[in-house]
Amino acid sequence: MASIKIENVQKAFGKVVAVDQLNLEINDGEFFTFLGPSGCGKTTTLRMIAGFYYPTKGVVRFGDKDMTRVPPEKRNTGMVFQNYALFPHMTVFENVAYGLRVRKVGSAALKARVQEVLRKVRLDQYSGRQVSQLSGGQQQRVALARALVIEPEILLLDEPLSNLDAKLRDEMRSEILRLQKEYKITTIYVTHDQAEALSMSDRIAVFNFGVCHQVGTPSEIYNEPANDFVAGFIGEINLLPVEIDKIENEQVTVSARTGANTKKLVVHNHPFNFKPEGKGAVSLSIRPESIKLHSEAADRPNVFRGKVEEVEFFGSLVNVTVNLDGVLLQVNMLNNVKTNLQPGAEVWAELPKDQIRIIPVVSGEDV
Ligand code: ATP
Repeated sequence: MASIKIENVQKAFGKVVAVDQLNLEINDGEFFTFLGPSGCGKTTTLRMIAGFYYPTKGVVRFGDKDMTRVPPEKRNTGMVFQNYALFPHMTVFENVAYGLRVRKVGSAALKARVQEVLRKVRLDQYSGRQVSQLSGGQQQRVALARALVIEPEILLLDEPLSNLDAKLRDEMRSEILRLQKEYKITTIYVTHDQAEALSMSDRIAVFNFGVCHQVGTPSEIYNEPANDFVAGFIGEINLLPVEIDKIENEQVTVSARTGANTKKLVVHNHPFNFKPEGKGAVSLSIRPESIKLHSEAADRPNVFRGKVEEVEFFGSLVNVTVNLDGVLLQVNMLNNVKTNLQPGAEVWAELPKDQIRIIPVVSGEDV
C-alpha cells in the first residue's frame, strides 16, 4: 500500500496547460476518484502518477519518496485503461501472466499467481480462452486481473466501465469495490460519471479545465459544493444569483432578483454554506429535493408564491418545475407524497434556510 502526494503539479503540452497548480494527498488504501467533464485533465493526472507523463512542474511522491521522474516500470502501479489494451490473440492466462514474465517471475510462482488472481476475478474457468472470444465484462475482468497480478501498491483505473452496458457497469462497480477492499489497495478511479463517483469513492477530486475545484467525501461534495461548477456538475441543482445584504451571527440575508421583483431570503450562517472570504459574485444553491411545496401561503421566511409549469413522473420521484416570477425552480418530490399538482396550479415553494448554500460563482471565469 502507498499514499500519494501531488505537490504544485503542472503539465503542459506545448501551449496547452492540461493540469495546473494541482495539490492532492491520497491516503493509504483509499478509493479516490478524479471526476470531471471530458478534457479536464483527469487522465493526464493519472498518467503522471503512472509515470507515462512527467510533470512540467511540481513533485509526485509515493509515501515520502520522490517519484516525479521515475519510469513507469519502476513504480509498482497497476493500470486499467479505458479500452483495456489487452492482447486480443493471446489467451486470458498469457494476458494476465505478461507483467510477471516481464519481471522474470519463475514459472511455478507465475502459474500460481495467475491462477489465484483469475479466481479472484472469477475467470478461472476461462484461462485457456482467447481474449477476443470474451464478452466486454469478461475482458474488463482480464484487464483488472492483469493490473492486480503484479501486486501493485497503487491501482489506477481510467474510465474502466465506459465501454460496458448499464447492467454490466453496475455489476463491475461492485466487483471493483470488492477487489479493492480485499487487496486494500490505494486506488485512483477516473470517471466523468457523477453517480459512479458518489457511489464508489471514499473521496473525490472534482476537476474542470485542468484545475481541481474541490476535494471531499461524496457527501461533502454533494452537500457542501465549493462553487457553482461543482454544484452543477454533481447532480441537479437550482442556482440563483444573489447579493448579500446583511451578515449576522446566526444568519445571512440575501436578495435574489426574479423578474421585476427582488426576493429576500435568509440563510443559516455557518462555515460551509457561506464563505465570507469570497469577494466576487455569489449564487444561492439548493438541491431540488430540498425544496418543499405547499398548497397554501405560510407566514415564514423563504416561502414564495409560484406557478407549476410542468410535472414529470419518474416512478419513485416526481419532478416539478415551478415558475417564480420567471425563474424556474426544479423540485423533486418522492412519489409517496400525496399531491395532485397540475400545470398551472398555484403553489408556495419553501427554500429551508439550512438547506441553502451561498457559493462563489466561477463558471464563465477563466479558472
Ligand atoms: P477525457 O474524459 O475525455 O478522457 P480528461 O479529463 O481525461 O478527458 P485529459 O486527457 O487529461 O482530459 O486532457 C486534458 C487536456 O490536455 C485536453 O485539453 C487535451 O486535449 C490535452 N491533452 C491531453 N493529452 C495531450 C497530448 N498528449 N498532447 C497535447 N494535448 C494533450
